[in-house]
Amino acid sequence: MANPERPEVLAYVALGANLGDARASVRAAMQGVAALPQTRNIACSSLYRTAPFEAAGPDFINAVVAVSTRLTAPELLLNLQRLENGAGRERAYRNAPRTLDLDILLYGDARITGPTLQVPHPRMGERAFVLVPLAEIAPDKVSSAQLQAVASQEIERLV
Ligand code: AMP
Repeated sequence: MANPERPEVLAYVALGANLGDARASVRAAMQGVAALPQTRNIACSSLYRTAPFEAAGPDFINAVVAVSTRLTAPELLLNLQRLENGAGRERAYRNAPRTLDLDILLYGDARITGPTLQVPHPRMGERAFVLVPLAEIAPDKVSSAQLQAVASQEIERLV
C-alpha cells in the first residue's frame, strides 16, 4: 500500500547472474524488483553478456533497472536479499559464481556509508557491466570519462 508519509525515491539496481539459466534469472529478477512493495518500475536496460570480473565461472548476464520506491534504502536492500535467496543464491566464498546478485547502485542522491550498505555502490565506477547498462537507461548518471575508463572490459549487448 502506498505510504504518503514517505517520498518516492529513484533508485538504480544492478542485476547479475552466471549460473544456471542466467538470462531467465535476470529477467525474473527484473520483474521481482518491479513487484517489490511500494515500488514501481521506471526503466529496464537491455541484457548484457560480460566475462567474469574478479569472479569465477561462466560469463555473466547483467542489467540495470530504475525503480521509484518508498522503501528506505535498508528496506530495499533487505528485499533484494530476499530475491537473491529466493533464487537459490549461496555465498560459498567471495565473488563465487552466483545464481543472482542484486546491488543498489544509487538511491536518489543519498550517500550511505554504513557497515552493511554503501551507496553509491563503492565499486560501480570500476565495472563496465554496471556503467554500460546504467548509461543506457540513465545517461546523465554516467560520464564519458567513466565509460572510457572501463572501455577495455568486454561487454556485449544482447538483442
Ligand atoms: P555481494 O556478495 O557482492 O552481493 O555483497 C553483498 C553484501 O554487500 C551484503 O552483505 C550487503 O550488506 C553489502 N552491501 C553494501 N553495500 C551494498 C549495496 N549498495 N548494494 C548491495 N549490497 C551492499
